[in-house]
Amino acid sequence: MEKSVGIDLGGTFIKAGLTTSDGALLKSMSFPTLAEKGSRDVVLRQMEKAIDFALQGTDKKVKGIGIGTPGIVDDKGCVFDSPNLPEWENLPLQNIFQDKYSMPVVVENDVNAITWGEFLYGAGKGSNTMICVTLGTGVGGGIVHNGKLMRGKTYSAVEIGHMTIDYKGPQCKCGNYGCIERYVGRDYIVAKAVDAIKEGKETLIYILAERKIENITPKLIKEAWRKGDFIARQILEDVGLCLGALFTSLVNLFNPEIIVIGGGISQQADIIFSIIEKTIQERAMKRLTINVKVIPAGLGNETGIIGAGALVFQK
Ligand SMILES: [Zn+2]
Repeated sequence: MEKSVGIDLGGTFIKAGLTTSDGALLKSMSFPTLAEKGSRDVVLRQMEKAIDFALQGTDKKVKGIGIGTPGIVDDKGCVFDSPNLPEWENLPLQNIFQDKYSMPVVVENDVNAITWGEFLYGAGKGSNTMICVTLGTGVGGGIVHNGKLMRGKTYSAVEIGHMTIDYKGPQCKCGNYGCIERYVGRDYIVAKAVDAIKEGKETLIYILAERKIENITPKLIKEAWRKGDFIARQILEDVGLCLGALFTSLVNLFNPEIIVIGGGISQQADIIFSIIEKTIQERAMKRLTINVKVIPAGLGNETGIIGAGALVFQK
């Protein structure tokens, strides 16, 4: 069994671990990213600490290091467009760590890393074509097509979050209009609850938030839904319908076996999954919907580390 180091780089924490070629996580630890210091070198040093921790006591039996980073990554492991990390622009991450550790280093967009991990060991195990979407502040996505991570010609990003679902929709921070992220990103889901409250609608969401708008979170909206709140139900149904419309296009394009959904609002929210499935069945090309399954991500909180480590085991 081969081993690899998995590094899941986030704006707040760097999660590091030692993973195996059958998807086990032998050890893991979180390190602060220290992005607030505003220095690229400080973050790189934190990454070194994280890698050193994972390599400690492994007797050089490690096949390589996999790194999942926010942003767009090119085919040489150079990172672009990562606004939450300081000076993370045109940064040759692969070269930096390959020189330092003298072993193969694979750098990928973080959601692509999660997608690969879910494909090899998680919800997509055994499938051939899979789409993975992560819901959070933003909406991330990755696609495995015929057993290979889709990377495009030179850049690794499958920016599902910035697919247009309404060409006359509001502008997104990426510059495009009517992106799916503009409807189901964390802040926009919360804004729907806030709007309803400001319109004077009665909702348990406001009571659970102790009548403070700033306390409203997607988690709290789900709690209100579970307790039978009408507004919360409407919000979650709308999230399901938006995602259902998006996946209808993706099913028509890629004919996937499995659609994996992970992250915040989707956890323990059966209502979202059932509406997505219903929408796909109603709207996508009939033949393409016969075998498609919509399921929650399977690797839990460590999915970023396991996915990053799994990058080393790509064929
Ligand atoms: Zn966008």
